[in-house]
Amino acid sequence: MRLVFLGPPGCGKGTQAKLLCQKLEAEHIGTGDLLRVSMRTGTPAGIEAARHVDQGNLVPDQVVNDLIAERFARADRPARFILDGYPRTLPQAMACDTILAKYNLSLDGVVLISVPDREIVRRVSGRWSCPLAGCKATYHVISNPPRLTGICDDCGTHLVQRSDDAPGTVEARLLVYHRDTEPLLPYYRAKGLLRFVDGTEEISQVGKLLRSAIGE
Ligand code: AMP
Repeated sequence: MRLVFLGPPGCGKGTQAKLLCQKLEAEHIGTGDLLRVSMRTGTPAGIEAARHVDQGNLVPDQVVNDLIAERFARADRPARFILDGYPRTLPQAMACDTILAKYNLSLDGVVLISVPDREIVRRVSGRWSCPLAGCKATYHVISNPPRLTGICDDCGTHLVQRSDDAPGTVEARLLVYHRDTEPLLPYYRAKGLLRFVDGTEEISQVGKLLRSAIGE
């Protein structure tokens, strides 16, 4: 399976991509995660990205297209994957098609996980994430708390709140989502790839809806 997960920030893309990748033995490729690693390690791409991420803006297309192109250029490129949070603009969607075509790969489906804006603001303000690169688990103080407050269930790392999850920044990210990412819907609909999932249900139910949407 080669999929793209689309949806507003906090819709559950990352959580669902992680769960489905474990099930399908596919690689989870999240540009947000890749950028956070670059920012933490202070690479040139990370320094460039930080200026945009902290304001709730998208980083330039070239930066994320290069990250994805680099991943697929490696000999161990994945045959099965979920792209989580990429593409996010029309130029990225076109670049994504070009990168995949270079290795005779194409997408099997694009899933939109929809959640209304007011629910997104509630969710993101209570979100805590595991900063460990190989883990990336996320929690919510009320709807999905860790067993021990502030500690990741999966790996025991201290959880953190992302700086771009601050209330003002979430609203900026939602605006950017509606303006720059929603135009991808007609693009993928025209290719017959688009599927819809209601992301307001609880995590396991969204997972079921998702698997049925992709015929798994
Ligand atoms: P995420 O973890 O997917 O919510 O991404 C966090 C932030 O990283 C976003 O708000 C953007 O600033 C940046 N980002 C992640 N993916 C992309 C992308 N495909 N294009 C541009 N910026 C991105």
